[in-house]
Amino acid sequence: MVLYLRPLLFFATAGSIVRAGAIPIFVDINSQTYNLDPIKLQEFIDTNCNFDSQINQLRDIQTGKPIKAIIPVYLYGQMCKMDEIADIAHKYNIKVVEDCAQSIGSEYKGKKSGSYGDLGIFSFFPTKNLGTYGDGGMIVTSSEEYSKYCRVFRSHGSKPKYYHRLAGINSRLDELHAAILNVKFKYLNKWLEDRFQVAYRYQKLFEKYNLLEKIKLPLNDIYNIENHKEHTFHQYVIFVENRDKLQEFLKENRIGTNIYYPLCLHLQECFKYLGCKEGDFPVAEKASRHVLAIPMYPELSEEKQEYVVGKISKFYNLLIN
Ligand SMILES: *Cc1c(COP(=O)(O)O)cnc(C)c1O
Repeated sequence: MVLYLRPLLFFATAGSIVRAGAIPIFVDINSQTYNLDPIKLQEFIDTNCNFDSQINQLRDIQTGKPIKAIIPVYLYGQMCKMDEIADIAHKYNIKVVEDCAQSIGSEYKGKKSGSYGDLGIFSFFPTKNLGTYGDGGMIVTSSEEYSKYCRVFRSHGSKPKYYHRLAGINSRLDELHAAILNVKFKYLNKWLEDRFQVAYRYQKLFEKYNLLEKIKLPLNDIYNIENHKEHTFHQYVIFVENRDKLQEFLKENRIGTNIYYPLCLHLQECFKYLGCKEGDFPVAEKASRHVLAIPMYPELSEEKQEYVVGKISKFYNLLIN
């Protein structure tokens, strides 16, 4: 069994593929959005796979194994071109598992993240847009069969109690966290709206400080600052030159930043056995050297944003002079 995903992302997505006994296959990201690109996905299928129409199965030529699923990850809160990806999946009889850990509430062409695929996976880790005070997550599906399976699997695979149909895991959302989430959920839309306002102000500040040449944002071509539903800005990530020096300079000025992610998955030690090497996914590798997440949270004030953008501007002026 094989699955596709993008090499620039958090480990958990690929880790779960391996633990399911499958082999991850990476497809390079779109250079504009950093998301899975339907064109590259189709190209990959055309060059590396065979479709057996008799049994309705797509196979990876190199390993001879069937391809079972695609996992699009909505990096930083922005959705992929899901209508096109869903069409490809349908054409080749493969499932779609959406990784919505960063995209709760995001929409693409009027449909919410988690509603395009066979399964949608959400995380309530404290740093996410809807976070509890510990670990938690949610799977959504419209399939009765998957729903039943997930309920049994999360309780050590037992049904009825103490009769184990599968070797499941302990992955129940405990009641304390469910109670916290029930309260916080009511504020989610307000927080998402506030995040958008923060993003909107950053955009205006970049204009004001003449930084539009220096700072690129990974955004969909249909992205429109007035109509922002496809991006909920879990992270506000900029693409910049001299990234490491900028990060250091901001740190000296007490501005916290982060890099999502510094090392692509195909180059991680635990995936050495997959045989990928540097240069295999040039867009993702380049992104990992240039991305920087600057402060983003619903309560971030305009004053603080101006301080952040002012320091970024100062850094580039110092570089020139
Ligand atoms: C946070 C995150 C996960 C994992 O969520 P956990 O709740 O920590 O298991 C998976 N994928 C992406 C893209 C994430 O950001």
